[in-house]
Parts: sequence; structure tokens; C-alpha cells
Amino acid sequence: MTAPVYDVAILGGGIVGCAIARELTRYRLRLVLLEKECEVGFGTSKSNSGIIHAGHHSGPDTLKGPLEWAGNRKWDVLHEELDFGFERIGELMVAWDAEQVEILEKYKKRGEDRGVPGLEIWDRDRVRREEPSLSRDIIAALHAPTAGVVNPYEVCFSLIDSARHNGLEIRVETTVTGVAAVEGGLRVDTDRGAVAARYVVNAAGLFADRIAAAAGAGDFRIRPRKGEEYLLDKRLRGLVRRIIFPCPTATSKGVLVIPTFDGTIMVGPTANPIDDKGDLSTSSEGSDEVFDQVRRTVPGISPRDCIAEFAGLRAVADGEDFIIGPSAVKGFINVAGIQSPGLTAAPAIADMVRDILADEGLALSANDDFVPEVPKRVIVSHLDTAAQVALAARDSRYGHICCRCELVTEGEVVDAIHAGAGTLDGIKFRTRAGMGRCQGGFCTWRCMELLSREMGIPIEQVTKRGGGSWLVCRREDLEEGSAA
Ligand SMILES: Cc1cc2nc3c(=O)[nH]c(=O)nc-3n(C[C@H](O)[C@H](O)[C@H](O)COP(=O)(O)OP(=O)(O)OC[C@H]3O[C@@H](n4cnc5c(N)ncnc54)[C@H](O)[C@@H]3O)c2cc1C
Repeated sequence: MTAPVYDVAILGGGIVGCAIARELTRYRLRLVLLEKECEVGFGTSKSNSGIIHAGHHSGPDTLKGPLEWAGNRKWDVLHEELDFGFERIGELMVAWDAEQVEILEKYKKRGEDRGVPGLEIWDRDRVRREEPSLSRDIIAALHAPTAGVVNPYEVCFSLIDSARHNGLEIRVETTVTGVAAVEGGLRVDTDRGAVAARYVVNAAGLFADRIAAAAGAGDFRIRPRKGEEYLLDKRLRGLVRRIIFPCPTATSKGVLVIPTFDGTIMVGPTANPIDDKGDLSTSSEGSDEVFDQVRRTVPGISPRDCIAEFAGLRAVADGEDFIIGPSAVKGFINVAGIQSPGLTAAPAIADMVRDILADEGLALSANDDFVPEVPKRVIVSHLDTAAQVALAARDSRYGHICCRCELVTEGEVVDAIHAGAGTLDGIKFRTRAGMGRCQGGFCTWRCMELLSREMGIPIEQVTKRGGGSWLVCRREDLEEGSAA
């Protein structure tokens, strides 16, 4: 190999890889991010509860603990600079008996020792006043005002837009197949050729163990732990104002009630170990488990209110903690086992990885051209009526409704396509078109036509999420196929 081309190659474009990539663009470095899916954030980072944890959930003797709180504190600045939905709505951890109140006290002390402000135990009356829909059997709750909710996929898109603008090169639909030490650095093999880099950051989520093993850079195992989540109709908006946690057990945070940033209520997740890293199915057992548990907390919730369901897979490493650090292979850094609270911690993980790279010899000189802000998207449903009318008068595309449930216009879908959405899911996660009550019954065809028009491709080449996930085919192809 001749001189390495990239200073750092980041493997995996989940929230962790995107946060690391954006942090490194603050320095004069040649950077590349390799992602196997057609867009960033399409792994576990889009299939989670979207909670920025308050700072007191993970234990003091773990790497997760301090990173949860360090990460939590970075979200306000990120929110100012980038373009994603985020609000600190606070959380309540609720107790049904005296033994559980003792557990709340333990969590309060843990948070206070770490410096988490505002933690307060509320008595039964206060809980009832603040959250009247909660069960009357709840006797106390720990309030944590630092907890928030975020649209996690929007964060990935915005981090990567910022990083790309500041010099990152990104290659999607590129699967890393191996990493080998070569003279002067590392060679990253992919299904689209090799990439040379001085340093490699392995942020490949569920598959970080396979990549580390192939490189001889770690013998840990990642096991998936499935979490099923259920989204409820928007008519339940306001049922609870804060994220509601049951009192946790030694192994689980339990099933939560989450008012999402966009105004739906989400309930879940389950936590079941599985073997298959590709199994994203939901199940009637999962649904029963979730609804049985949340109805104990909020009796007014019913499975009949469910409009959509999905599953995400936590990347659980041996020992249950994050694995972040250099490996036996010079220049190869593992960022693995990033289960919950990985979303919360991601900005702090990015800082930690930057420091590890510097300790390993990467020279960090400031990129004076770094621009932290990205332009904010137009979100028509967030404007008042006068502003909506004025906008539609300037550009009629912002007056054509594309998704009726979520009030998304043609203008916003076109903006999303020009910002990089090349699939139906890309549009959905950038604009919410297809996320409402009819789940795309009305807008799917409109979005497909816009993708075809704006990208200049025939409609049969439009996909749901890249690869072979086409949605329609020509009748002739079907007839030819069945004749063959
Ligand atoms: C149900 C559920 C709920 C959760 N709720 C929360 C929460 O509320 N708050 C919180 O803080 N955390 C939460 N988490 C945890 C959080 O979602 C994860 O910690 C976080 O998303 C991990 O990000 P990541 O970038 O490490 O992984 P990923 O998002 O999985 O990213 C890894 C990327 O690597 C890519 N990749 C894999 N193999 C290869 C390869 N060979 N070549 C190229 N690319 C590759 C993948 O396609 C993927 O995009 C939850 C997790 C689950 C499952």
C-alpha cells in the first residue's frame, strides 16, 4: 500500500458513527464513513425509544454511567446548532410500594452524586396533580427534569449533513467485509473495493464483533436484545406529559410510556435476548407484555389505540457495558456494545473517541472553516396559518398536501429528496409523511411519484429502503417472469 488516503475511516453510520464523524470534522482530517444501508441511521438508531436519559439511570461502576450524564448535557448545544426535534419534558419513575420508594431514593442519590440537578421525590398527591392519568395505586415518583425526547433519525441526518458540509466523505450501500493491518496503516475491505486509512473506528453496532474479530482486534460477542415498541393514535396526545418509567428491576428499565416529540404516545420496549441479528419482527406475545404492563401504570391505554409497531435490537456486549478503546491492532478503535443509553451518550462517546485517537497519535489541528450550524428545514405544520399562506403564495408546492395525517406538503418532500432522501423511508423519517394514522395509505404513491420525478428514475426503481425493496414493477416484467 502507498501512503494512507484517509486519516480516519468510520465504520457504521448510526448515531454513534455520525456523532464521531461530525466531531472529527472540527479538525483538519481526511475522513470517510462507510455504511452498509442506503442511508445513515437506518440501523438501531432509528428504532428506539428516543429518550435522552436524565443522567441517573446507569450505574456508577460502568462506562455507561458517566457517559449518560456527559452526553445528556451536550444535547442543548447540538439542538441549537443542528436541525432535529428535541425537548426536555422530564421523566417520572413511579413506585407502587415502600420497597420501591427505597429504590427511587437510591436512584436520586446516584444522580445527585453525579451532579444531575432537580431530582425530587413526589408524593401521591403531587403525582396525581401533575399526571392525572396515572394509576391511583402509585404512591410516589422520582421526578427528573433533565430527561428529554428526540427524533433520533433526524439527529443522524442532521449530524451527517453537518459533517458532510464540513468535509466528511460518506459511502452508503457499502458493507465492510474485513480490516487488515498494512504498512503505514489499515486496509478496510468492502463489497465495493478497499479503503486505506491510518485509523479505523469500528462503530458497526450489532456487527462490531464480527468486524473486530476479522481484524484480530477483539474477541467480544454482541448479542441482540430485541425491544418491541407500539405507537398510539395522536388522539391520546397529552395523556401523560412526561416519560413514565416503572420502578426498575436489576435487569430492566421496564415498559415505558413515552410522549414522543411529535405528539404521539409510544409504549414499550420489551427486552428479550434473540440470536438472529436481522430479526425485527413484532409479536402478539410482545404486544401483550407491553400493554399488560403499561395498563398497570396508565389504565386508560388500550391496544386498540395502536397505529404502528416496530422492533429494534440492542447491541449487548459481554459484561453489559460499552466497549470503547484502542485494540491490539494499532490504529483500530472499538466503539462496541452501545446499547441503551447509547443515543443519550453518543455526543459524549464522540468526544471520548476523539481523545482516544489523539492519545493514539492522531494530530488534531483545528479546522478553521468548520461551520457548526446547518440550515433549518421548513416544517409547514409548525407554522401559524398566516405564515403557511404566505409560504404557499411564494411557492405553491408548500400548499399541496402530500401526507394528510401529518400535514406534510409537496415542498417538504421535495426538500427532503434534495437533502439526500432517496427512498420512501428516507422521506418518511425526514418529513413524517407516512407516519400518521393511515400509515402511508394516502401519501405513499404521491411520495413515489415525487421520488421518480425529482431523481429522474422510473417509478419501478423507487424503493422502500434501498437494495431490492422495490414497490411496483411493470406488468410486462411480471408476465415475462411468470413465463420463464
Ligand atoms: C428498543 C430500543 C430502545 C432504545 N431506547 C433508547 C433510548 O430511549 N435512549 C437511549 O439513549 N438509547 C436507547 N436505545 C439504545 C440506542 O438505540 C443505541 O444505543 C444506539 O442507537 C446505538 O447506535 P450505534 O450507532 O452504535 O448503532 P446502529 O444505529 O446500529 O449503527 C450501526 C451502523 O453500522 C452499520 N453497519 C453494520 N455492519 C456494517 C458493515 N459490515 N459495514 C458497514 N456498515 C455496517 C449498520 O447498518 C448501522 O447503520 C434503545 C435501543 C433499542 C433497541
